[in-house]
Amino acid sequence: MIPIIQPVFGPDELAAVADVLRSGWVVQGPRVLAFEHAIAQETGAAHAVVVSSATAGLHLALHVAGIGPGDDVVVPSLSFIATTNAVWMAGANPVFADVAPDMPNVSVQTLQQAWTPQTRAVIAVHQLGVPFDRAGIAALCAARGAVLIEDAACAMGSRYRGEAIAHSAALAVFSFHPRKVVTTGEGGAVVTNRPDWADRLQRLRQHGMTLAADRRHGTSAVEAYAEPGWNYRMTDLQAAIGVVQMGRLAAIVARRRQVAARYDELLADCWDVAPLQPHRDDTWNAQTYCLCVAPDTRAAGMRRDAVLGLLQARAIGARRGILAAHLEPAWRDHPRGPLPCSEAWAGQSLALPVHEHLSDEEQRYIVATLREGLATV
Ligand SMILES: *Cc1c(COP(=O)(O)O)cnc(C)c1O
Repeated sequence: MIPIIQPVFGPDELAAVADVLRSGWVVQGPRVLAFEHAIAQETGAAHAVVVSSATAGLHLALHVAGIGPGDDVVVPSLSFIATTNAVWMAGANPVFADVAPDMPNVSVQTLQQAWTPQTRAVIAVHQLGVPFDRAGIAALCAARGAVLIEDAACAMGSRYRGEAIAHSAALAVFSFHPRKVVTTGEGGAVVTNRPDWADRLQRLRQHGMTLAADRRHGTSAVEAYAEPGWNYRMTDLQAAIGVVQMGRLAAIVARRRQVAARYDELLADCWDVAPLQPHRDDTWNAQTYCLCVAPDTRAAGMRRDAVLGLLQARAIGARRGILAAHLEPAWRDHPRGPLPCSEAWAGQSLALPVHEHLSDEEQRYIVATLREGLATV
């Protein structure tokens, strides 16, 4: 079996977790703080607040931005479902924007088409780690008085025009789920350049508490509850793994880019598939190797699904590329405009395995099987 992903944990991660266990302090504490420093350093953002998942982080980002009932938030339908669900968690209304035909990201144009008079925020996604047009979209949001929240769940290690993702973000959210580039099992982080938002995020992730447990420990200090909040904490066990993984980020990204480049090479003469090609001025972390399978005369998606079926039958952990929320039962009846490009991506995109230990032989086997599938349907 060749899995779609394979998190790589070495002796350093094991030793870091053992240290936490021996210390006796396993909840949010010094390791979470160290992980936050590593994230702030990597992204160049002023503050990083670590939470239990990116979904929790998106919810908190919307909340600190003042988004709630009565507000519209423009989101791509074409994204992992959490992007849309986070808007629902905040009590606001998701409005689906389409994506570009040649890139699975929203653009200034598709956001303008979806915009409503109640739009107070946009969640734009750096889909599969591919940076969106940050300059254009940030200018649009600023001109229209909306907050731009960057869903950077997949984008740790990517660079937009030479700058780390989230470098100058109002709010950006990363994920540390095993499908992403750096993993702590479950986990997320909200990055911001506003100190008032950072303070509030720190309170909101732990019940609105003014003084965290690790700061009170061994003192007679008493906490207050400034406002209602959630329990969105990460444990020190997870953060200890994150600190080690952040130290290996450059090497992880370099290896993933090598794997993606090898797929590009192996598929260069295959006209039935179009691999994702990020903008040449950006650096892509190769979080997912995604390609579009050219549809045949039958309904969109059928050829992709047939190829996917063959890959899976041969024990290759390929997956649908990106889902579209408006095609899922949870959001099927939600009002929306036409989303033709999102539907094309959802029906045609295919994700191939990418991980650090994927061998050249495995990559050649995957591509040979893919070609076999394309030839038979
Ligand atoms: C994975 C993912 C999320 C959710 O991340 P979790 O940490 O699992 O909550 C949100 N948005 C996008 C685009 C993702 O790919």
